Amino acid sequence: MGRFSALRKRMVEEQLIPRGITDPAVLSAFLEVPRERFVPEELQKYAYEDGPLSIGFGQTISQPYMVAAMTQLLDLKPEDRTLEIGTGSGYQTAILARLCRKVYTVERIPGLLERTKETLNRLGYKNIYFRLADGTLGWEEESPYDKIIVTAAAPEVPSALIDQLKRGGVMVIPVGNRYGQDLLVVEKDEKNGIKMESRMRCVFVPLIGEQGWKE
Ligand code: SAM
Repeated sequence: MGRFSALRKRMVEEQLIPRGITDPAVLSAFLEVPRERFVPEELQKYAYEDGPLSIGFGQTISQPYMVAAMTQLLDLKPEDRTLEIGTGSGYQTAILARLCRKVYTVERIPGLLERTKETLNRLGYKNIYFRLADGTLGWEEESPYDKIIVTAAAPEVPSALIDQLKRGGVMVIPVGNRYGQDLLVVEKDEKNGIKMESRMRCVFVPLIGEQGWKE
């Protein structure tokens, strides 16, 4: 076993399973995606540590456990089409792409999106679609989505994202102030009713845009 695959196995056994990540499909995605490819070269040796890391552009790759918890809450099905707001390093994107049919991912920082696109293309992903835009407005042309995941902190749930969620769909989004948020699971029922529930506290970088924070 290579050095990184041993670290990957340890991350799953020590950081994910003991904290309640039990979905076998989610766990096997974490055993397969090479997290070290999504961080700057000088930080590769820390790629499997239990925390977020800086990826440049003032942004972060989220803690492995947070990526796993959000993924498990989405309850992805192989046929799902998922919208991700905040591509960042693309690590979460790669995990999603292993668990559902198509991932539509939106990032607002051009240099970051270019670099991440290259990483994901090199790794051979063919079911990821990229867009440079303000993700608080979603990606209307491809909507509605079975699942929506927002990986930056919003002051409230953007109405555009609620509109673009399918009936029966699920959205996972951190909502709160700049210093701490509730990780919300938002469910839209078959009659278009909305139910929201907080699952844990978390801290994300701000979601900046028309239906997010001002820069
Ligand atoms: N899941 C990612 C990962 O593991 O690498 C982490 C994403 S990072 C915490 C949040 C990302 O959201 C940043 O790349 C940031 O530029 C992006 N972001 C912030 N506001 C945005 C917006 N309105 N639209 C799209 N992306 C946005």
